[in-house]
Amino acid sequence: MRFDLSRFKSGTDRIDRTYEPGVFASATADTDDFRVAEPVHLTLDVKKNGNRVAMTGRVTTVLEVACSRCLEPYRVPVDARVDLTFYPATDPLATAKPARTSPKGDDDGGDEVKEDDLGVSFYSDDFIDLGQIMREQFYLALPMKPLCADDCKGLCPVCGINRNREACSCASTWVDPRFDALRKLTKNDLGK
Ligand SMILES: [Zn+2]
Ligand SMILES: [Zn+2]
Repeated sequence: MRFDLSRFKSGTDRIDRTYEPGVFASATADTDDFRVAEPVHLTLDVKKNGNRVAMTGRVTTVLEVACSRCLEPYRVPVDARVDLTFYPATDPLATAKPARTSPKGDDDGGDEVKEDDLGVSFYSDDFIDLGQIMREQFYLALPMKPLCADDCKGLCPVCGINRNREACSCASTWVDPRFDALRKLTKNDLGK
């Protein structure tokens, strides 16, 4: 899932790749709150200008996420725009700063790169990790509060059944046993 920059000196290129969900499984196994459920389609237009690599395109797939109320997995479609500019990572061990042959001569004048700039990333060893680009988009696509449906009824707090699928009688009749004891107490007091 890497894009090799060493074989791509300058100009434009196009990435059009499809990844099977399985290739994301190991990377997302235990730590992630989602599962990739459908093949991931990645299309990117790549423009290389000196050390700077611009990638624009989109990522589409379907993720499976657990509902926060009923805990059942449900599908979240992803159709995300990618708009990233990559610069070589400033590694102190790497060769001294790339010579700025054209002082302030970049076409869009933006030579200064701040790490917190939106859409700015870094690459090292002449590779751009496409897997990371896609995973970032997956995370951005995850809902803050995942719900399988707006009116998901969730789980019964007593018997634990999924109220979207089954009805149980405990929900309406259940009374906190502590109140029950309290009620008996009150009755006895009244009876005296
Ligand atoms: Zn639900
Ligand atoms: Zn119940």
